[in-house]
Amino acid sequence: MFLKNGEGMQEAKALFEKLKIISLLDLALLTPSSYDDTTLAASIQVGKMQTFEATVEEVATINGRLRIRFYLLQFNRRLSSILFRVTPYHKKIFTVGSHHYIQGRVENFRSELQMSQPKSLKKVGTIIPKYSTALKESSIRSLIEYYITESNLYAEGLQAREVKTLLGLHYPTSMEQIERMDIEALKFVEAFNHMKKLKGKRKFFPAIAPLENNLQRFFESLPFQLTKEQQRVIHEIRNDLRDASKAAKRIVIGDVGSGKTAVILAAAMIAYPQKSILMAPTSLLAMQIYEEAMKLLPSEVKVALVMQGKSEGEYTTADFIIGTHALLHKEDLPKAPLVMVDEQHRFGTKQRAMLEQMMAEGEKKPHYLQFSATPIPRTQAMMESELIDVSLITITPFKKDITTMVIDKSDFSELLRDIQGEIDQQHQVLIIYPLVEESEEIPYQSLDEGRGFWEKRFNYVYVTHGKDRNKEEVLVEFREKGNILLATTVVEVGISLPRLTMIVVVGAERLGLATLHQLRGRVGRLGLKSWCYLFTHNKKNERLKAFAKTPSGFDIAKLDLKFRSSGDILDGTIQSGMQFRWLDLAEDEEIVQVAKERINRGESSKQQNSI
Ligand code: ADP
Ligand code: MG
Repeated sequence: MFLKNGEGMQEAKALFEKLKIISLLDLALLTPSSYDDTTLAASIQVGKMQTFEATVEEVATINGRLRIRFYLLQFNRRLSSILFRVTPYHKKIFTVGSHHYIQGRVENFRSELQMSQPKSLKKVGTIIPKYSTALKESSIRSLIEYYITESNLYAEGLQAREVKTLLGLHYPTSMEQIERMDIEALKFVEAFNHMKKLKGKRKFFPAIAPLENNLQRFFESLPFQLTKEQQRVIHEIRNDLRDASKAAKRIVIGDVGSGKTAVILAAAMIAYPQKSILMAPTSLLAMQIYEEAMKLLPSEVKVALVMQGKSEGEYTTADFIIGTHALLHKEDLPKAPLVMVDEQHRFGTKQRAMLEQMMAEGEKKPHYLQFSATPIPRTQAMMESELIDVSLITITPFKKDITTMVIDKSDFSELLRDIQGEIDQQHQVLIIYPLVEESEEIPYQSLDEGRGFWEKRFNYVYVTHGKDRNKEEVLVEFREKGNILLATTVVEVGISLPRLTMIVVVGAERLGLATLHQLRGRVGRLGLKSWCYLFTHNKKNERLKAFAKTPSGFDIAKLDLKFRSSGDILDGTIQSGMQFRWLDLAEDEEIVQVAKERINRGESSKQQNSI
């Protein structure tokens, strides 16, 4: 609706592409980097760029510089100026008696007003925004003038307060107006714009079948009571799956150990007697879920495990098929109306979409549930839910008792004693090195350099790392027999080592908080008293200290936002383009909430908003 047909359209399109602008509000939020203010000063303010009406009283050339004494008409005051870079043009215009509008920074030197290198302006009385984008100022100016109008902003669903603020941003009438910019309104527009775009992207498909098996017996047979949040999420999933007119698309985000597997099994039970498929990122995880399914699902539910090389059960006839990405290569995989992906962030977008696609029947898609252990701030979850339904699990069934401490070299002998203490109780210890091989860039030992020390001092020390081909066998053997596991950060996400009670992270300050939290989540899975030691050369590191005090993954996600400088926050989960200039995801929950409500009241639902 914003681009008139014909002239200029292609041109404008190309400009928007250059600026990565896809909505009118993107353009409206393009904030000037400065303003060229040529309104005449109402008062003299030392230190500020100001514009005055002035006449020249005296001119002198001293050492190649031009010294000018001005008389400021409105203020009945004198102001002296020195021009350091003098051109013939200056000499020509600054003649005694001439009249000027001069602009420059006002200084006060020995109670005399001064201005160095003043400019003589032809026209005054305007405030012109400067955008400093890849485009010429004049191009950007004409785009803004064409699109950013009061009626267009109202048509986007904004209200008077936001419209006024945006117009003030691009067409200010005074510098005070810019200084007193309504930041809350700008935050609102950012949140509103982001969610509107997401909402526009979501497509709905009919489901293959409604799934609505009763769960009562399954609940009663469980050896534990589900937490309130597990129950709530299962309830949400149940509502999704019974709807045949709309294939579910939901992500369940729960901290490590929050009991997502039980939710996965409940979903498979809702589908039963229809089929469901679950894909997990590693054989170990697939096996773990398979074991849990065999233990917790009623015996009439046939479960199969599909992995590269080895498999269990007959997947072609199973009710619930669990597998690794090997599933994607099975041509005789039966159709299932429910598809699930565990630890979804460990798969590429393509792999995830592939399984969903394999199960599709024409227009109809399977119900699709994803599970992730990377917490995101509530504000972000609220926004993402315009694109995909989001369920958060923020509590764990076992109260985790993990003490986190920042340590350095001076604590090493104590650390050794603590490690021995855990081993004496049949507990296990995980030590994470920053690298496999020695490197000059990192002031910490590598896995290769460190292993000799541990192997000499302790029995049953196991070693693995990301590129290790036998990683899974090592982990399985360690789980049974090991005392100490030396690894890099790529240690299996989600693998359950119930006896693991201590983790030591070497060079902890080098890791993002989300990663540290994942690592810490390995210990104390079943509520055993546990320790997380962050070994660093800089014990004063604020980020680590804050991390040590913060047990919840959802709070860590908030902390991460505060500390992050580049975008490592979520270690590549569902976010993209979550860079906001005004909005603070850690703080602005209320604003996001209000923006979301406005969008979903449908005030703007009739608009087609892309430029
Ligand atoms: P994650 O969310 O990390 O996938 P899991 O599903 O592996 O967590 O659950 C961790 C452990 O907690 C498992 O041993 C599981 O059997 C157990 N568990 C799950 N839900 C409950 C519950 N409500 N009460 C007690 N134990 C539970
Ligand atoms: Mg899990």
